Parts: sequence; structure tokens; C-alpha cells
Amino acid sequence: THTTARYNAKSAREQLLEFSKKLRKAIYEIDPEIKSKLPAKVNNGILEDEITYCKKLIAKVRQDETLASYPKVSERLNILQETVEDDLEHLALSKDEDATIGHKTADTAFFGYKTHLAMTPERIITAAEVTSGEKHDGKQLEILVEKSRSAGIKVESIIGDAAYSEKSNLEYAKEEEIQLVSRLSPTITHGNRRNEDKFEYNKDAGMYVCKAGHMSIRKTSSRPKKHAKDGKGTVESYFFDVEKCKICPQREGCYMLGAKTKSYSVSVKAKIHSEQVEFQETKVFKQLAKQRYMIEAKNSELKHRHGYDVASSSGLFGMHLQAAVTIFAVNLKRIFTLLGE
Ligand code: SF4
Repeated sequence: THTTARYNAKSAREQLLEFSKKLRKAIYEIDPEIKSKLPAKVNNGILEDEITYCKKLIAKVRQDETLASYPKVSERLNILQETVEDDLEHLALSKDEDATIGHKTADTAFFGYKTHLAMTPERIITAAEVTSGEKHDGKQLEILVEKSRSAGIKVESIIGDAAYSEKSNLEYAKEEEIQLVSRLSPTITHGNRRNEDKFEYNKDAGMYVCKAGHMSIRKTSSRPKKHAKDGKGTVESYFFDVEKCKICPQREGCYMLGAKTKSYSVSVKAKIHSEQVEFQETKVFKQLAKQRYMIEAKNSELKHRHGYDVASSSGLFGMHLQAAVTIFAVNLKRIFTLLGE
């Protein structure tokens, strides 16, 4: 789960730099000639020099009453002045040295920490690993298993999202005889080809659909000679109905008239991946995967009922303490509920 840092992602100097830049931009829009009359900018990375510069800039703009009275200028001027006068102490302390920027999805980022959790089907948290925000979830799997084991848990299955299905985890799970219920990322299962946009994988049918909207009619699986010995690398070929291709308005660059077959091939990289692909299709996998919602519910409980969405202090050590106390409380509540059932 993600915890946002208590403080800003920016240091005091970076914040001043940003506000003074915004003020200058507003001024230039009104009077481009003023540039040469403003105090010289500093760019040495020293907070004290940045403060002196901002003070000079504020004084210079205030001298020109007309300029300072433009709403856009006055608003930015006041923000900069308030930052310099009131908030500086807070800002100086504000950078959380340990927090980092991480990504929740391709489009959403956050500044803070991640807590990687392991939980039993009874919803008791058995292990937690607190890291800075940019750390990859999949890399924590082994640590979580070992921590859970040392807490006396017998680990038979792990249910996680696709972040946990990286090759080293699949190998680790196999070695440890653990069922890893984690879907392979689509680029592993279905290649990373350039014309990916033209052929889309339909996971329910287990077939590809071409850009004309036709689904492949059969598939084959083969192993190229160079991989035959080591058992690595399978190529899956998906075949389309050539009768449709012959009359397809989009066949240019896709199907050559006269060809007897039209196929689209993807490579499944390693044997361990092929095994996981097979496992993904089993009833056991599908049944266990349904339980994944539980960890999301636990994340929500931690965040929304126990304030775990924002760090209560600064630094990784503080985050560790917050994790320990919060998880202890959440587990205790759960134990009482279970005892009452
Ligand atoms: S040529 Fe065949 S495979 Fe290509 S888009 Fe048309 S129907 Fe689909």
C-alpha cells in the first residue's frame, strides 16, 4: 500500500525558486522590458542566497505600485512574501529525505513510501516491508515469505498482482514449492511486438483479434530449434481465417494475396513462463485469484480507519514505527473479531 509523505516533495529553496519564477513570469507578461531592472537571479543552490534574492525581488516589485496592483502579480507576490516570512522555518524542515516519488499506475505518481504486506486468508498481516516509494513490489516477495515463515506461518500459496510474477519470483516459488497466483505481465505472455496495436489479445477467449475485428481461429505452440535443447522459449502462432483476409479492406501490410495462411506469432520467453501460463488457466489459479480483493480491503482499512494514507512523521525510521503500530492495532482488532466469531 502507498503512504504519502507528510511533507513536500520540494526543498525550501526549490519552493522559493518556483514561486519567484512564477512571479517573474506574471511581471514579464505585463512589462517585458522590466527584465533588466530586476535583481540578478542566483543559481548556486544556497538557500540563504535564494532568500536574499526573493526579498530583493519582492522589494523591487512593491516599489512599482501599478505593477504590484495587477491581480496576477499581487497574488504571486503575496505567496512569495508569505513563503519567505512565515513558512520558511516549516519549509526548511519540510523535505523528507527518505521519501521518494513512486508510481501507482502509468499516470499517477505519489511522493512517499510503500508498505509491502503479506496476509493470511484470515486477514492477519504476517509480514510488512516498508520501503521508499519507488521500490518495485515484486522484489519484496522473498522477504515477505521469509518474514511470514519466521512468524510461524506455513506458506503454501501466494496471491498477488502481476508485479509479483517476475521470473526470479517464479523460480523462487517453484524451488520453495509455493503456488504463485500472480498473472504474468501481458508483455511476457503475449510478446512485446511493434504491431501490438494491430493485434489485441482477448484473454477470455485466449485468442488474438486483428485490427479488422476478426478473432484467430486456431493456435499452435512450437519451440525454435535454438531453444529446443535448453527447453526455453516457446513461440505461439495464432492463425486467422484467410477467406476473411482475402476480402479484408485492411489487408495491406497484413495479408499477401495468394498466401495460404495468415498468422500472428508471439514468443513466450522461458519455460518457467510457459508453466505459469498453463497454471493461469487452471481452476485452482482462478479460484485463488478471487481472494486478492482481501488485501485491497486491508489496505483501505489501514489508510482510511488508521491514518496510514499519510506519514505521521518524516523519514523511513518514522514510517517503520508507524507501520508497526498501525499493523499491530489492525491485527489486534482482527484477532478479537475472530475470537468473537
Ligand atoms: S488481413 Fe486478415 S488478419 Fe489482417 S486485418 Fe484483415 S482479416 Fe485481419
